[in-house]
Amino acid sequence: MNSVRVLPRVVADQIAAGEVVERPASIVKELVENSIDAGAGRIEVNIDHGGASRITVTDDGSGMSPEDAVLALESHATSKISSIEDLHELGTFGFRGEALPSIASVSRMTLLSRRHEDSTGTRIRVEGGEIIEKSEAGAPAGTRIDVADVFFNVPARRKFLKSENVEAGHCMDAIKRLSLANHHTTFLAGKNGRVTRQLWSAEDLAERVEQNFASMNLKMVHDVCSEISVAGFLAPPAKARSGAANVLTFVNRRFVRDKGLIRSVWQSYSGMLDPGRYATAVVFIDMDPAVVDFNVHPQKLEVRFSDPGRVYSAVTRVLTGFVSTSPWQAPGIEASAFEYEQPVTDPSGIAEGVSSYLRAQQSSMPDHGISRESWPSRPRPVDMTTTQRSMDSGSVHEQSGTEQKADPVRYIGQARERYLIFEDEDGIIIMDQHAAHERILFGRVKEGWKSRNLPSQALIEPVTVELPESLEALAAEKADDLALLGLGVASFGPGTVVINSIPAVLSGVSPEKLFFDALGSFEGAKGKSVEDQIDDVIATMVCHGSIRSGQELSRQEAQAIFMQLEETPYAGFCPHGRSVTTRISFSEIDRMVGRG
Ligand code: ADP
Ligand code: MG
Repeated sequence: MNSVRVLPRVVADQIAAGEVVERPASIVKELVENSIDAGAGRIEVNIDHGGASRITVTDDGSGMSPEDAVLALESHATSKISSIEDLHELGTFGFRGEALPSIASVSRMTLLSRRHEDSTGTRIRVEGGEIIEKSEAGAPAGTRIDVADVFFNVPARRKFLKSENVEAGHCMDAIKRLSLANHHTTFLAGKNGRVTRQLWSAEDLAERVEQNFASMNLKMVHDVCSEISVAGFLAPPAKARSGAANVLTFVNRRFVRDKGLIRSVWQSYSGMLDPGRYATAVVFIDMDPAVVDFNVHPQKLEVRFSDPGRVYSAVTRVLTGFVSTSPWQAPGIEASAFEYEQPVTDPSGIAEGVSSYLRAQQSSMPDHGISRESWPSRPRPVDMTTTQRSMDSGSVHEQSGTEQKADPVRYIGQARERYLIFEDEDGIIIMDQHAAHERILFGRVKEGWKSRNLPSQALIEPVTVELPESLEALAAEKADDLALLGLGVASFGPGTVVINSIPAVLSGVSPEKLFFDALGSFEGAKGKSVEDQIDDVIATMVCHGSIRSGQELSRQEAQAIFMQLEETPYAGFCPHGRSVTTRISFSEIDRMVGRG
């Protein structure tokens, strides 16, 4: 009765998925690695609901031909190796050719890709590993992979997903690591459709570290020891925290988790750290690729060194000497502390070798000519309040007895439950109700923040939330800023915080959402001026409290919005930079209908 059977392909892929796809963050990692391998200069990642409902990765890399796009979804299809020997020479992340089919086997995936040289692209839809549609499609050059409903067909795995915030935290951690390993690449990461983290192409490693850890007072050391280059960015021992999650180690620009390396970093603080406590440290180790093997773990997180002792002692020797000088006591961070320079003395001559190896890796990446200037920043707000208007209950009248010219404005109605339509003497005004309300709330919170007097509302039942370790430091650091924004938070044992108040103008909004979004934007706004950071954070918070599109509004409500907007400074744009109102003059309309 028992017979040996070859597993159907989809089942085999699902089993492989068990190794590769542990949680949404592993999907993010695999897709972004593929984008990097494809030479992308810019990678956008959006995750919805912690990645469980949707992960989208868009790149401007090489793209795939229609044939390759189909092949890529088949097990063991890879453009990166053809024989086992190639494995050891490999400069790329991929090699097993199993990530895409594995992910596709446990989700609903849409792949859209176009090579730069082709005029049309390809779209392929896969459900649970089965290709259900393949067609020609218009597409920007590069690749977009959209992974929806992760584990929809493996309910047992879906059950193991943690809360949205925890999964989102893991996804953001994955992006942080990949960004550190690929500092030339621009990363734009967003949650639920809004960009929360912008890491522009960095000149050097130090700049990328700075983008990720701006407030942590990391000091840099770089030296070469036993032909191993060690660059460390280290936080003072006073900032140590329990657990090694904040020790990030990279070998030849791959993030790895290696107990020996972590122990070496800990030992470098020679007795300054209690057992189990670690200071934030980002350590880049570069060495001859021939003496290190990454192919020992399905997720490629582990390494095997041919001589581990030599690596560990190189790390401790470079870092210990530096830590013993207590570089953190120097007042402020000098810019020069963040330059990643080759050491002056290089007895072994390997530094040159290592850096030319790194240079070769970097220069093999195509230059997409992306500069910061070419990306849109928030448009300058325009002042709309040049004319004085007034309005009351439905009909509009001239403001009596004033010397100012008053434009009569009449509310016409709501279109698509999204736009409020008004008319005045000159034409028709179309207002985006969500953007307008957001702008109003933004103005109020910002005023309250400026005057240090923003009314907050105490929660009858304080809300306890799980705080991913990766956010603990940030939450502690920003507690005072959050309080000024009306968000009262207290720390409660490791891994949790308690929210006891929220801004009064945002009553009714989920405190947990407000808190995580505020933190997320603080993180994303690192390196900006305080005021810009606050603007970002407020913009994110008020988004939740605003009237949505799809909400029906009464005449009174619509008029209230119009008038409140008139009182709001810089009313022309919502905090996300979208336009709030548009005007079409009657003369334009006349022209359109052929009257003029
Ligand atoms: P691997 O990366 O191990 O080769 P994957 O399953 O991750 O395997 O990808 C399979 C193949 O699909 C890759 O070798 C590559 O040729 C192609 N591919 C995947 N993602 C992209 C992308 N973003 N841009 C271009 N090609 C891609
Ligand atoms: Mg891959």
